[in-house]
Amino acid sequence: MQAIFQNADVITMDKKRRVISDGAVATDGDRIIEVGKRNDLIKKYPTFELYDSKGGIILPGLVDCHVHLAQAMIRGCADDLSLIDWLLPVWRCQGSYSEEDGRLSAELCILEMLKSGTTAFIETMIASRYGFNGIAQAVDKSGIRAALSKIIMDMPPGVDQEVISIPEGQREEKEATLAEAVSMHEKWEGGAGGRIQVWLGPRPFGIGLTKDALREVAKVAMERNMRVDIHFCEIKKDNKYFHKMFNLKPTEALEKVGLLGPQTLVIHTIWIDEEDITNLARTGTHVVHNPSSNMKLGSGFARIPEMIAAGVNVSLGCDGGPSNNTYDMFREMKLASYIHKGRLLDPKTMDSETVLEMATINGAKVMGLQEEIGSLEAGKKADLIILDTNKAHLTPRPNPVSTCVCAVNGSDVNTVVIDGKMIMENRKVLTLDEEGIIKKAQASARDVFQKAGVEIKSRWPRE
Ligand SMILES: [Zn+2]
Repeated sequence: MQAIFQNADVITMDKKRRVISDGAVATDGDRIIEVGKRNDLIKKYPTFELYDSKGGIILPGLVDCHVHLAQAMIRGCADDLSLIDWLLPVWRCQGSYSEEDGRLSAELCILEMLKSGTTAFIETMIASRYGFNGIAQAVDKSGIRAALSKIIMDMPPGVDQEVISIPEGQREEKEATLAEAVSMHEKWEGGAGGRIQVWLGPRPFGIGLTKDALREVAKVAMERNMRVDIHFCEIKKDNKYFHKMFNLKPTEALEKVGLLGPQTLVIHTIWIDEEDITNLARTGTHVVHNPSSNMKLGSGFARIPEMIAAGVNVSLGCDGGPSNNTYDMFREMKLASYIHKGRLLDPKTMDSETVLEMATINGAKVMGLQEEIGSLEAGKKADLIILDTNKAHLTPRPNPVSTCVCAVNGSDVNTVVIDGKMIMENRKVLTLDEEGIIKKAQASARDVFQKAGVEIKSRWPRE
């Protein structure tokens, strides 16, 4: 498709961070060929199809760097609980999934992400029982871009771990998890026309992952040039466990096994100190911030402005259905901006520009795709979203960047283009059967809760 998306404020996120009023983006096939003023581009490319953005905002597709696909279908199964109590019903539900459930939850999650402007995401821990192939096929069909991490774990059956014991349905043997990760990497890396990456997703250290497994993850990652994402110091006990098992700080332990570096994404990073932050910056290790999840589970405040000041590449993520409970990056951006202002008593920290970088170009860096996505520039992939701003809550908008971070909701996304293909037009997703997925997921969620024996009680009388 040769097209000009025009009549909009274009937030380019290019190196100069240009915001172009009355702007346009010209695309040819899967690439952007020019970004500029509307009239100039229409004159220059007279045969291109014109898409009217009706005075809205065009920005790069958002990159959600922390997603649990399997948790979309168990949204709301564990509210107002601390992490460990929260994990029990979540694990029981996930431990009763069939491959069909895994695929359906992935489709539900991808549908929600597309409808709220996410065009690329990193899924962190795909268990065997969710069916890796079905999930990769769902990504392929939907048109979204994804890094899919196969779970790696090695909890010996019958041995209680330091923090929590993993239920039967969630257990996998180390050799099998590593072998499956390697075979899925062989099969799917670069799949779906280059839209799929395959990563290693080790369980959090201490919750189904021993020192040995951690070392093997580093070895396989190095040998196969695979990226790794791992939950890291989400709760205080995680930090203590690194000290106990390695007699080292958490980042020192990861560095010792060979896991710190630009190939690794650490998730949450709440209970770490100044030296850990310096180590993350020095080694080019990426961080993903998940403010909704951290606030909902009472996990604490990750010191994100401090990490950014130290030079760490920090991205943004929604986490999962039971911990957030949505996959809407616009909500996440607002929270990421606001909570640190309150925590530091500093309204100047985490301005909208910084937060929009986290949700776009910084996420692209995490995926190693900074030359391909994350900004609207000639030569890059045509991954863009268009916001409908003709609404009361988006009027007026003297600074479109702050409009995006502080006022836009995911439901304001009108159009989604990925790889130059129209994926959502006028809020209709063209690649997935929205109505069918919602109907099936509603019924399957009921079955999953029942199979898992998880009863969601209302605290108010329900008639
Ligand atoms: Zn998570």
